[in-house]
Amino acid sequence: MTIAPPVRQATSLFLERFGSRPTVLVSAPGRVNLLGEHTDYNGGPVLPFAMEQRTVVAVGPASTWRAVSTLDPDIQDLNPELIERGHWTAYLSGVIRVLGRRGLAPRGASLAVASSVPAGSGLSSSAALTVATARALANLAGHRIPPELAADVAFHAEHDEVGVRCGRMDQTVAARARADHALLFETGTGEVLHHPLASRVWLFDTGVRHRLSGGALNQRRQECEVALGLARELGCRAEALAAIPEADVGDLVRSIPAPWGPRLRHVVTETARTRRAAAALASRDLTTLGRLLVEGHESLRHDFQSSCPEADHLVEGAVELGALGARLTGAGWGGTVIALLPPEREEQIAAELGLRFQAAYGRLPQVWSTRAGPGLRSEK
Ligand code: ADP
Ligand code: MG
Repeated sequence: MTIAPPVRQATSLFLERFGSRPTVLVSAPGRVNLLGEHTDYNGGPVLPFAMEQRTVVAVGPASTWRAVSTLDPDIQDLNPELIERGHWTAYLSGVIRVLGRRGLAPRGASLAVASSVPAGSGLSSSAALTVATARALANLAGHRIPPELAADVAFHAEHDEVGVRCGRMDQTVAARARADHALLFETGTGEVLHHPLASRVWLFDTGVRHRLSGGALNQRRQECEVALGLARELGCRAEALAAIPEADVGDLVRSIPAPWGPRLRHVVTETARTRRAAAALASRDLTTLGRLLVEGHESLRHDFQSSCPEADHLVEGAVELGALGARLTGAGWGGTVIALLPPEREEQIAAELGLRFQAAYGRLPQVWSTRAGPGLRSEK
């Protein structure tokens, strides 16, 4: 069973609010990071895939800028000169500004957004929105833009205009993913490789949310910088933590105190694990992939200290119940645990794991599953 993108909702919202049919419809997916956590800002690889859940952007010509979303059905008049930070339309204005600088924007547009990607849950609804908007508006202006360009426009919109300190992973996977494949993205070089991922991936929401802006995440980023500095003082010549050879980790961690030594060890071993996981996908070896997920979780838990008890509980329970692997995905300190479950028992294990979580924390976690879907595409 595949989930259809909300094209009808976007079309009827457009029709209802603007009184005509949209001329261009584009959709882009949310994403799940299979492996490669806290490697992106250290020059390492990430291995995300696009979810089946998607954001649809419907646009039509207009002399000014106005937008609606199923999340905010009141018509919003946009002034792309003025980015209203903290408001969802900032993402649209950001895209309009970046397209405008490149001569790819129309003179105005009506936009209607409908999405099945949960917003603000670490599944990258923002990149789904900016990537789809970039292509939709460029098409409206008569330009065909390839996925690479849509990803670049969306990155600059979110990073430079909206002001989010993000890397390029989210926009890259939303634009360039392939159905039934995960995408190995080497953030150091920009290289992208597609590896087959045919299995269903289960998601268990811990229900724990932490605001990361300015807090724990920035502290980790800074600790990584210090760790690199300490490694270089010890004679290491790497320009980024991810470039440190795995064979050097033992010696370095003996000389670099906590927390910096363990932070370094996480980034270096996670880099190696992520590339091994991509190789495991290439040879369709889900057993090895599952083991790497669990090792990745242990590294987040002990070396990077970015897990939380709810996530540890879910990962341990999943492994006990026979999962091939599980780990906390996303920046950390809460969010979602992903699990690879044996297909013949997946429903049963997912239900049992939910009950165990309820017994420990007094509430059922939200449980759902997805598959690797396609990246950016035009819709009819
Ligand atoms: P994530 O990308 O993990 O979902 P972000 O905080 O980066 O979380 O982005 C979420 C924000 O993106 C929302 O608060 C909203 O401003 C915007 N957004 C995403 N999807 C939609 C949508 N369908 N309609 C309106 N705004 C959206
Ligand atoms: Mg985002």
